[in-house]
Amino acid sequence: MKKFFATFLALGALALAQKPNTAVTGYTDTPEIPGQKWRVHDATRPKPVVVTPGAKLGDPPSDAIILFDGKDLSQWDFPGKRGKAPKPWKVENGYFEIVPGAGDAVTKEKFGDMQLHIEYMQLPGNTKLGQNRGNSGVLIMNRYEIQVLDSYGDPTYADGQAGAIYGQWPPMVNAIRKPGEWNAYDIVFEAPKFEGEKLVKPPFVTVFFNGVMVHNRQEITGPMAHRVNLPFKAHGAEEPLGLQDHNEFVRFRNIWARKLKGYDRK
Ligand code: MG
Repeated sequence: MKKFFATFLALGALALAQKPNTAVTGYTDTPEIPGQKWRVHDATRPKPVVVTPGAKLGDPPSDAIILFDGKDLSQWDFPGKRGKAPKPWKVENGYFEIVPGAGDAVTKEKFGDMQLHIEYMQLPGNTKLGQNRGNSGVLIMNRYEIQVLDSYGDPTYADGQAGAIYGQWPPMVNAIRKPGEWNAYDIVFEAPKFEGEKLVKPPFVTVFFNGVMVHNRQEITGPMAHRVNLPFKAHGAEEPLGLQDHNEFVRFRNIWARKLKGYDRK
């Protein structure tokens, strides 16, 4: 019997192969996929929205929000540090650089679930050590930090290295490039959900560091903090993206984000 079915399937495949111009647009008599409202090969399921990828890996796709294209910081606010006057960071040669003491940079746009691409360079010749060497940070929702640091040969603590979910999870491996070379983070973030003040779904983050996975849908256990654990505090479904001023010179370029809307969009 098994042999009969195998032959039957093989003949079916052959029949399809012999009709290369026959577009199979789906079925209405197949079983439902477990946990979904769609049938296997459902004819009525929305086709994926077309997105044109960038010319090369790392370039923004057609549905990305460009946060820095090498020219200006019009997508960013500079609220200033602890009540001091706002001071923008410096733009030159296709990148921008932290002005130490100026305070964090914060996007005007707000994000919930997101894909983020961001590149940064540590400056050669920095002789500081530990958390003082090239410290900055990608502040997702302006509070969950993926650490930016010059971790090339630096002996700082594991959960404070570049790529760490600061104070919570070290990167699985240290994939940083030498100072003077550009590093890239590709981040997928799932925003937390709150009901009133109560957290009902924690945030999760996946991070590729120069193409190397360093977090795989890792749960974030609270906002960024130093030497303590901070509890979650309810916030909006979308919040700005921040970049940390930690009194060090770090350069950034090619920053873009996509708002993630899930499957079966129409
Ligand atoms: Mg930092």
